[in-house]
Amino acid sequence: MRIILLGTPGGGKGTQAKLICDHLSIPHISTGDIFRTKIKEGSPEGKEISEYMQKGQLVPDRLTISLVEERLKKDDCQKGFLLDGFPRDENQAKALDLILKKKEEHIDFVFLIDVPKEIIVDRILGRRVCPKCGESYHIKYNPPKIEGKCDVCGTALIHRADDQEDIILDRLTIYSQTTAPILDFYQEKGILHKIQGDGSIQDIFSQISEIVDANK
Ligand code: AMP
Repeated sequence: MRIILLGTPGGGKGTQAKLICDHLSIPHISTGDIFRTKIKEGSPEGKEISEYMQKGQLVPDRLTISLVEERLKKDDCQKGFLLDGFPRDENQAKALDLILKKKEEHIDFVFLIDVPKEIIVDRILGRRVCPKCGESYHIKYNPPKIEGKCDVCGTALIHRADDQEDIILDRLTIYSQTTAPILDFYQEKGILHKIQGDGSIQDIFSQISEIVDANK
């Protein structure tokens, strides 16, 4: 099953992505994570990516699209995948269509996790992530068992540089300008499902799993 998960930054996409991927045994492909790995490797490509990300700007398509294409060629994607953070705009959506067409594949479901704006800033400001294993927490809604430490691997949690308030507002503006048009693109294909994202983690997951399970 090939799935795209869309939604504003901080709308709970990462958390739902993990649940869906475990449920369907498919890989979770997050462009944000791919970029963070490249940055850690310290290559010239990573340095360029880091300059955009730190400002909350989109990484150019020439880097983004080729990294996604490379990732989708890996063996673990044969039975399906979940894309999180990609496509971010219409150009990327069309590029993805072409990449999949070459492999005679198509996207089965696009889920949009719809969260009211006032909730988002609160969610992002409280978000803490593990720089080692990628596990994500919220200081109020999903705190780690030991303050500041990852439950999974014990590493000290961090507040991402692009999760600060002024950067969040920039990211939200970029999101509504660029991502909103791709909703029409997928709506026309008849594969867009809007999910109410202001409930609990389990509520949101139930809405999604009902749809995928009915089409398994
Ligand atoms: P995320 O982890 O999805 O919130 O992404 C963090 C940052 O990575 C974004 O603010 C962008 O700078 C960059 N990024 C992630 N996905 C993309 C994409 N599909 N196209 C361009 N930039 C992206």
